Amino acid sequence: MSKLSSGEIEKLKNSLKEKGYKLTPQRRAIVDMIIRNEGKHLTTEEIYDLVKKDCPEIGLATVYRTVQLLEDIGVICKLDLDDGCSRYEIVHEKEIHHHHHLICTKCSKIIEVPDHLLEDLESQIEKNYNFKILNHSLKFYGICSECLKKSKKV
Ligand SMILES: [Zn+2]
Ligand SMILES: [Zn+2]
Ligand SMILES: [Zn+2]
Repeated sequence: MSKLSSGEIEKLKNSLKEKGYKLTPQRRAIVDMIIRNEGKHLTTEEIYDLVKKDCPEIGLATVYRTVQLLEDIGVICKLDLDDGCSRYEIVHEKEIHHHHHLICTKCSKIIEVPDHLLEDLESQIEKNYNFKILNHSLKFYGICSECLKKSKKV
């Protein structure tokens, strides 16, 4: 969904160097693949399968370590969408709070929903509970429009 600006892509690519890590060709390939598949919520294994096409010599352990490193420096974050996998997505700098995910229980499609829909609810919670909200992780389960269409045809 929210496409990365070229400035954001540059920042992502430089983030390893900025934090004092070498941008090796393998790390670069992994970062490129994550950027190219933005919004797809890939698992480490899926990233590995994609990167392997360009870098056949890369090992799964390298991908694991690099993904962990990118998470540690705050470039990507882990996502648990209740499918038994750890998925990752890019942290958007403009996004103060995390966006939400709609999960289709029929086809497992994941649809992203921007955060601002929640603002009224958040301000009510902050007021009623005197609770400062820092972030949230919200998943909605249901049936996507395509699956709804298919089920109507039958
Ligand atoms: Zn929010
Ligand atoms: Zn669906
Ligand atoms: Zn997402």
